[in-house]
Amino acid sequence: MSNDALRARYASVLERVAAAVAAAGRRPEEVRLVAVSKLHPAEDVAETAAAGQVDFGENYVQEALEKRAFLRERGLCADVRWHMIGHVQSRKAAQVAGAFALVHTLDSVKLADALERHMPDGAVQPVLIEINVGDEPQKAGVPAAEAAALAAHVQEKCPHLALEGLMCLPPVFDAGEAARPYFARLRRLRDALRAECGLPLPHLSMGMSGDFAAAIAEGATIIRIGTDIFGPRPPKK
Ligand SMILES: *Cc1c(COP(=O)(O)O)cnc(C)c1O
Repeated sequence: MSNDALRARYASVLERVAAAVAAAGRRPEEVRLVAVSKLHPAEDVAETAAAGQVDFGENYVQEALEKRAFLRERGLCADVRWHMIGHVQSRKAAQVAGAFALVHTLDSVKLADALERHMPDGAVQPVLIEINVGDEPQKAGVPAAEAAALAAHVQEKCPHLALEGLMCLPPVFDAGEAARPYFARLRRLRDALRAECGLPLPHLSMGMSGDFAAAIAEGATIIRIGTDIFGPRPPKK
């Protein structure tokens, strides 16, 4: 995509996000936009960062690290914060631990332990627990009923992980208001978990291109937008 087209799309997303935040009676600083750049070239990340975007989300560990290296070598995007929003296999934990501002997709005790083991001394990795909010059999994320046990494990056994909230991908895609009950469910689960474990759990990572307004209305603090900023994704090679 041309840089002009990319900047226009980005500006339009910022406007629509601001409108949704205002419509929900919330303050702009309560909602952080993560630009989801998976499968898009590092040049588009650099251009969007030059336009002022700080947070970028990637789904694949290798691609994320390669893009980060590409930008670093060119002295670009020193301020960029990288988010891991895709499934992380435990055997990749060494590459992920400490490499991302936030890991949105903690989904097992095994992964928590693997990340914990690979964290450098004195460092802390912020994480969110991914909840399978639609109780779909094949979907990533822990069932809502198991969230408290995983949270307790992180709290008790993983001093190098900081649990900051919950993330979800609802079963309906690009369906706007239809996703809203799932966002409400994630918020209620977070509130219950907060009371149970005593952590503040400030973050709800929910809402994508097709449904971010509904997510913001239900309390999202982090929205993850790819297509509306970068255009349709090229196929994964
Ligand atoms: C790809 C992806 C997004 C972005 O989705 P769009 O519909 O392109 O905005 C958000 N969250 C996760 C977890 C993703 O994998």
